[in-house]
Amino acid sequence: ILNRSKMPQYPGLERWILVEKLGYGAFSNVYRARDSTTEFGEVAIKVLRSFQMDSTQRAKILNEVQIMRNIDHPNIVKLIDFVESRQFCYIILELCPGGELLPQIVRLTYFSEDLSKHVIIQVANAIEYLHETSGVIHRDIKLENILFFPAPFTPTKNPKPQQLCDEDKEDEGEFTLKFDDEQYSKGVDMWAMGCVLYTLLCGFPPFYGESIQVLTKKIACAQFIFLSPWWDHISKSAQDLVSHLLVVDPKKRYNIKEFMEHPWIRQAEKETIFTV
Ligand code: ADP
Repeated sequence: ILNRSKMPQYPGLERWILVEKLGYGAFSNVYRARDSTTEFGEVAIKVLRSFQMDSTQRAKILNEVQIMRNIDHPNIVKLIDFVESRQFCYIILELCPGGELLPQIVRLTYFSEDLSKHVIIQVANAIEYLHETSGVIHRDIKLENILFFPAPFTPTKNPKPQQLCDEDKEDEGEFTLKFDDEQYSKGVDMWAMGCVLYTLLCGFPPFYGESIQVLTKKIACAQFIFLSPWWDHISKSAQDLVSHLLVVDPKKRYNIKEFMEHPWIRQAEKETIFTV
């Protein structure tokens, strides 16, 4: 039963009926909403308080939206519309009703190797498209930005994969060719994929520190271990892939092509059905 009176009303958003709050970011709230004209059914709406932003932050949003308009990939959340009012702007997105990845890892403690592979391959497909086709670096790959569509682990022959949201922070575009090291900036996404894959396989993140200083130092040196007994049952091949992603030097870190060619990825079952 919905208590719609509790949902805020936003100027310029009359077409959409807000149903529930799904999440929030620094300048935003994200809602599940219904289309009153029934054209789109349910969507996710990111409401950004543009009145709190400076011109650089506003330009970043417009840039993100502009990039999203040109992105078309089954593993990346689609932009439906972008609406602006005086104080807010609204990013209308395809809804991922299955929610975030982290609660599912918590629910299962950790993912099996097959399930981890199933998830990370779809993230990799999205990254491959961004890096190789669109010239875009995501820069914010993390558990919170990996969402399930439609719902996690529903038994189906052809499950629609989970998707990346909040993608495309920055367009490499024309700058790529100007600086040699720019080609390695895609490595930030590969490092982040290493962190996600590590967490999927064992249920906790690769880096831990008692203080932010210790944590930062460990990350900067890629100081992580495959902690026993949690990693004992995980194949050497999976560990090898993680080890090639969590590498300090971006020139030595796997790129998306090398990731796709790794034996652990290539061994993926074509038609795995996951029921949990
Ligand atoms: P920010 O970039 O400001 O951090 P996000 O785009 O990451 O905001 O969105 C915040 C949260 O809202 C996400 O972590 C997720 O839980 C939820 N969310 C965002 N987009 C969608 C979507 N398309 N479908 C379902 N939930 C979403």
